[in-house]
Amino acid sequence: MKNKKSCFVCNEIIEIEEITYNKVINLPVCKKCMNTEKEKSAEKSAMDSLGEGFVCGCI
Ligand SMILES: [Zn+2]
Repeated sequence: MKNKKSCFVCNEIIEIEEITYNKVINLPVCKKCMNTEKEKSAEKSAMDSLGEGFVCGCI
């Protein structure tokens, strides 16, 4: 999974050259979700969870 990332909004795999990062939370977002209401709400919930300490994903 090193060369591919998934969109934090829709969880779809994004090709490396298609990746755009959300500037606020620095997570990859696909072109479909970029600048949408969906992105904004996903951004909010991601920020909420970041506020409670980093989720390291090393479960
Ligand atoms: Zn997406």
